[in-house]
Amino acid sequence: MRPHVLVNVAMSADGKISTRERRQVKISGAADFLRVDRLRAASDGVMVGIGTVLADDPSLTVKSDELKRWRKAKGQDEHPIRVIVDSNAKIPLNASVLTKGEGKRVIGVSRQANLAKVAELKKMATVVVSGDKEVGLAQLLGELGAMGVQNLMVEGGGKLIAGLFSANLVDEIYTFVGNIIIGGMDAPTPVDGSGFLKDTEFTRLTLQEFFLTDDGMLLHWTVRPGS
Ligand code: NAP
Repeated sequence: MRPHVLVNVAMSADGKISTRERRQVKISGAADFLRVDRLRAASDGVMVGIGTVLADDPSLTVKSDELKRWRKAKGQDEHPIRVIVDSNAKIPLNASVLTKGEGKRVIGVSRQANLAKVAELKKMATVVVSGDKEVGLAQLLGELGAMGVQNLMVEGGGKLIAGLFSANLVDEIYTFVGNIIIGGMDAPTPVDGSGFLKDTEFTRLTLQEFFLTDDGMLLHWTVRPGS
């Protein structure tokens, strides 16, 4: 069975998640940072696309010592399993997500990934092969479920989130809307990809909660059943 999938994303007041050069922008503040750390600590796995790894080099580690201790006390690694979606095995071997902090890594690649690079990655991570040209997200999630990942947090970026929505693999989404305008029609948004055209393809959401925080607003949505 696939894990429960929670997407977390921060966007500007005009709906952008970074600049058109794909440079990371601080959109939220300390309170939201703590919320994201708690969500991460409560997850079995944290997933990002290769675009985010190459643009931001995130480690995706739990930052709070208290939360790390809390995970340890439950018999878990300090950090959730870090999952990278990377069809062509482009991830640098020194990427922070592979080298920082204890815990397991899973790299999802496609069947066209370079075999020599895959062999290198297998020394550092579990490699799951799915899809001919791009990663088969449903299959990857199924494999994560079989590894015991029940809750998966997805931290971007826009193309990966679009792929997950296209395959009906998202259960809930937190969107933080911050008090800046980034602008640019080529700047990434929370759900990029080629977009949905027909009304029947749109995902319908239910707004569960909203909070004012860090000079912005956090919205918590769930995906409507059958949507
Ligand atoms: P991304 O979503 O992180 O990664 C997308 C890549 O994943 C694709 O280009 C593709 O590359 C790979 N992929 C493999 N299989 C896929 C599938 N089935 N569906 C979708 N993608 C698949 O990259 P991005 O859209 O360029 O986003 C990166 C930007 O988002 C950066 O600017 C970063 O700063 C920003 N970001 C913002 C936030 C925020 O909350 N504000 C969070 C994260 C990231 P291959 O074909 O090479 O495999």
